[in-house]
Amino acid sequence: MPWFAAMAAPGVRSPIGPDWDALGRRWWSHVGVLADDRMEGRETGSPGYARAAEYVIEQFRAAGLQPAGTEGFLQPMEFRVRQLDLSRSSLDLVRGADIHRVALGEEAMPIVSSGTVEQLEADAIFVGYGLSVPELHYDDLAGLDLRGKFAVLVRGGPSDMSAPIKAHCQSPEERASALRRAGAVGLISIVNPTIPELPWPRLASGLLMPRMELRDPGPGGYHPLPMGIAYNPESAGPLFEGSGHTVEEVLSALGTPAALPRFPLAVRVRARVGFSQGAATCHNVVGVLPGADPALKDEYVVVSAHLDHLGVGTPINGDPVYHGAIDNASGVASIIEIARAIHYSGIRPRRSILFLAVTGEEKFLLGSEYFAGHPTVTGPLVANINLDSVW
Ligand SMILES: [Zn+2]
Repeated sequence: MPWFAAMAAPGVRSPIGPDWDALGRRWWSHVGVLADDRMEGRETGSPGYARAAEYVIEQFRAAGLQPAGTEGFLQPMEFRVRQLDLSRSSLDLVRGADIHRVALGEEAMPIVSSGTVEQLEADAIFVGYGLSVPELHYDDLAGLDLRGKFAVLVRGGPSDMSAPIKAHCQSPEERASALRRAGAVGLISIVNPTIPELPWPRLASGLLMPRMELRDPGPGGYHPLPMGIAYNPESAGPLFEGSGHTVEEVLSALGTPAALPRFPLAVRVRARVGFSQGAATCHNVVGVLPGADPALKDEYVVVSAHLDHLGVGTPINGDPVYHGAIDNASGVASIIEIARAIHYSGIRPRRSILFLAVTGEEKFLLGSEYFAGHPTVTGPLVANINLDSVW
């Protein structure tokens, strides 16, 4: 049987092969349901997300999958939620009697996490990119006494360092654990203007959104520092005053293979952060197609897509629902159709295939992190094919 016969599920069979238009319409119908107003943008922890998960369960069942969560098809998890309260927050750069009151929102923004303390005052050291990469014998933290201090850094890294290594070392987990090992209690992260990231105003307003973290991340989880602050590069001048260096000097070295200079700053940083806190629960959806080979069926190939999106917010063209049709109803529709195609092909793969619709992706991949820390199957996960924004 040719591979595409697998697509010839009931309703789309024709004598000359699969009816691609009908298959496309069915894929699109999943997108339509998941991106509908009724799903309210599928925000992690919301009733709209729960309704979307119900739909995925129905479709997984229709595709012949068996439940593989901890509660049927569901894998529930709990989150801590904290939200910054700017009215109770302040940031001062103190140089003797001279105090620079930082304009929060414009110049800098606290990054609230489950580790955030309400007040911290400490000396600060500029640590360049702040990267520790033992494999490359590269360490911006080597030889610095960061104990009890703020580490001030610019995001990014030398231009000749590979992008995946830079991305890995700058993940919140890696960054916090390297700085914590070096003794730092706070992080001031200056946005790198040479890297295409979110523009400062969007980044700053994003930091006002509720921040979710897993209550139980499992081994190797994220243990954030007591204080984190994002800094607008256009406003970072006062941080460097009196240090013998300027922000212009530092920023002009970006985009080259050179490491940045490292030096003590002449300011004490005094941060006060107000926040509210609460809790939330949500769930991944997990189904399995058991493998046919007795020797291999305990190995799993994971086919995943995130089900969550950004929920409801400031209206765009009059519409407050962020539908997430492409990101990522399209990916979830695809894993549903892949499951159906395999089911109706009659082919039984040798390894088990785990179909996983994860939550919390827009909250820094929390559903994936939870699944990796708490897999619902015992066999090894030998591969993961993840689909995001399929179009
Ligand atoms: Zn996505």
